[in-house]
Amino acid sequence: MNARPHCRCDTVRNYSYDEAAEKLRCKRRFLEDRISDLPHQKRGESVSFCECELALIQIKTSRVPAWVLELTDQPGPAPAPTGATPAVTALASIRPSRGRKRSAVAATG
Ligand SMILES: [Zn+2]
Repeated sequence: MNARPHCRCDTVRNYSYDEAAEKLRCKRRFLEDRISDLPHQKRGESVSFCECELALIQIKTSRVPAWVLELTDQPGPAPAPTGATPAVTALASIRPSRGRKRSAVAATG
């Protein structure tokens, strides 16, 4: 199972707090204060962000007025560029098998 379904990087280029803040044009503190709610990678105390994670943060923090959505005929912000949707759909279509006997329980006699 892919532990990073949102990541589509062919070659992961990671950005530090400072680099991510520079790319997103925000303060490093903005990212630090919300890190538990932001997609990121953590190795020990080191935090990094790939391009996909920066894109998700950008979408999450975009504010689009209703009149702009009306002009562009969009129901809401653009969906996140994640590969999770097909996997979720596939998982939702899985049904448990029926008629299987619980032979392990019977073997305890
Ligand atoms: Zn990525």
